[in-house]
Amino acid sequence: MKKHNFSAGPCILPQSVMQQAAEAVVELDNSGLSLIEISHRSPAFVSIMDKATSLALELLGLEGKGYQALFLQGGASQQFLNVAYNLLENKAGYANTGTWSTKAMKEAKLLGEVVELSSSKDANFNYIPKGFDIPSDLDYLHITTNNTIFGTQYKALPETSVPLVSDSSSDIFSRSLDFSKFAILYAGAQKNMGPAGATLVIVKDEVLGKVSRQIPSMLDYKIHADKESMFNTPPVFAVYTSMLNLEWLKNKGGIAVIEKENDAKAALMYGEIDRNPLFNGFAATEDRSNMNATFTLADEVHKERFEAMAKEAGLNGINGHRSVGGYRASMYNALPIESVQVLVDVMKTLEQNA
Ligand SMILES: *Cc1c(COP(=O)(O)O)cnc(C)c1O
Repeated sequence: MKKHNFSAGPCILPQSVMQQAAEAVVELDNSGLSLIEISHRSPAFVSIMDKATSLALELLGLEGKGYQALFLQGGASQQFLNVAYNLLENKAGYANTGTWSTKAMKEAKLLGEVVELSSSKDANFNYIPKGFDIPSDLDYLHITTNNTIFGTQYKALPETSVPLVSDSSSDIFSRSLDFSKFAILYAGAQKNMGPAGATLVIVKDEVLGKVSRQIPSMLDYKIHADKESMFNTPPVFAVYTSMLNLEWLKNKGGIAVIEKENDAKAALMYGEIDRNPLFNGFAATEDRSNMNATFTLADEVHKERFEAMAKEAGLNGINGHRSVGGYRASMYNALPIESVQVLVDVMKTLEQNA
């Protein structure tokens, strides 16, 4: 039985995308060759990379606006360092909204002054601090648009004139924002874009080339941009599958369409969390993530039965991260609303039989 996959990442992808990716591993487009045995310099793969990068820019509304889309490796975690290498000359500001922001700051500190401009650590990161002061002499402001572990999400971007950098690993391509407000936007593929192994970095040309340090080639966005993400062998399978998924999203109608579906899923999920007396939402209501809903049982006495019922219903990946406990329903683009309904029904049944 196919499970209802609420995993936080790696996560669900459209069934059709996984089918096509599997077929390409056996044979790519009647070429007599597998996707994973052809040269990354072959016309077939070069056109896959071109398509992946242009779809990414197109879906974000950034085509022809002076941005590059790079497919790199090392995950979002590698970008914690790369961002600082490429942009941090004197001082950078970070908004600390959880585990990932904390890790991003740690890496940036290796290269310059890092100012923590805000933090919600005082409440185990259950909210997004707003209205904090952003000095105008920063090299950049770094935020995490969606906090996968704690289930919070920026609904509006901070207003600032300094270059805005975001780790958007877990909500890229899930909702419309004015993406031209970002200098750099990065995301590990495995949350909402594809399989693990590729990292998408969207970078505005004008922010590069401003630091005085020497940048090692593999960390240099300019080199990757000049080489069109082919400075070294790219993760061909992850790029191809991401490309298929971006194509799936485009054929659906793009971000505006998926955003409506994601809103509907989140409304159904949070509606039940708020209605059902056996459960409590974790994140502050106004900052709730549409991607990762975090919640706990009001009374642990129901734990065993809830988890047994969830398993019986084929629900996968709903256990919360250890730093929050409880449960986390990750509702990425490919998760159908029917799966959310199954989870909601289990919560209702638990209440009726309590
Ligand atoms: C998962 C996640 C990461 C870590 O991604 P890796 O690709 O494993 O390095 C970083 N930031 C956010 C917001 C995440 O959700």
